[in-house]
Amino acid sequence: MGARGRGWEIVERAAAGDLLVFDGGYGTALFEAGLANGACPELWNDTHADVVRSIHAGYFAAGSDLVETNTFGGTRLKLNEYGLGDRTRELNEQGARLARAVCAPGGYVAGSMGPTSRLPAEYEPLGDTSDEQYVATFTEQAEALAEGGVDLFAVETMMFPQEAVAAIRGCKAATDLPVMATMFFQYEELHDRDRTMWGESPADVARNLVAAGADIVGMNCGRGPDRAIAIIREMRAATRVPLVAYPNAGLPITTGTRTTYELGPEAMAKEYPALLDAGCSIVGGCCGSGPEHIRLIAEVVRSRRKR
Ligand SMILES: [Zn+2]
Repeated sequence: MGARGRGWEIVERAAAGDLLVFDGGYGTALFEAGLANGACPELWNDTHADVVRSIHAGYFAAGSDLVETNTFGGTRLKLNEYGLGDRTRELNEQGARLARAVCAPGGYVAGSMGPTSRLPAEYEPLGDTSDEQYVATFTEQAEALAEGGVDLFAVETMMFPQEAVAAIRGCKAATDLPVMATMFFQYEELHDRDRTMWGESPADVARNLVAAGADIVGMNCGRGPDRAIAIIREMRAATRVPLVAYPNAGLPITTGTRTTYELGPEAMAKEYPALLDAGCSIVGGCCGSGPEHIRLIAEVVRSRRKR
């Protein structure tokens, strides 16, 4: 790989037809370990390092080739909501180190970068954030993640193209590590189609994220693997870059204070042969998926690799 980071292996392997397994959700595991509702998950990189490390280790043990850091809400703009903006560098660096510490031989660490929760200025009347503010906050996060040793970035669950594009630019301004960028899609039953909050189609998103500099594009979170298949198919027709999908384990079901998800490990993994057929190179799960989901998804991937 020379002076280029190891993360470029992922892009090259995926482009050459190799299949890779990403990890599953973190929220459920953190809540089970005692994270309080409304508390800052990234603070646990400091206060509960052992818990965070063991979630990463569980995914590597389940068969993940890459895991993501516990830094989804790690931009200064987001951490400010908890009064933790001053700890942005530390919490992101530490998040990267925790995943790095348990990284399997041959495994990779992706620096998770989620939305700031601040709306783009054009989004009237609530929006107040300029492209420059977005780029600055993501550049700062990407620098800290790179300092902590990530191999690539996972810009994820993005709802607005302005923010997604700025996050990709921030990563590229910080380092030359590859960027995997995914957006959140809603299924519009009335029209039988998938669209972002901003109304973009999967093809629009793929083209837009690639134009902004993303090296791998796709979808995460959202409704579930059935829609992921349709979204990836549309993206495959629109771009040649490697594609990634890590959907939720179906829709959330809330009973009282407890949230579960529709799809257990078997029901979820059953959809993955079609997801790979649709042209996806990197697959995992998002909300509601855990190590057992990933173990069965990894089995599907392994059986494909042997062919
Ligand atoms: Zn999710």
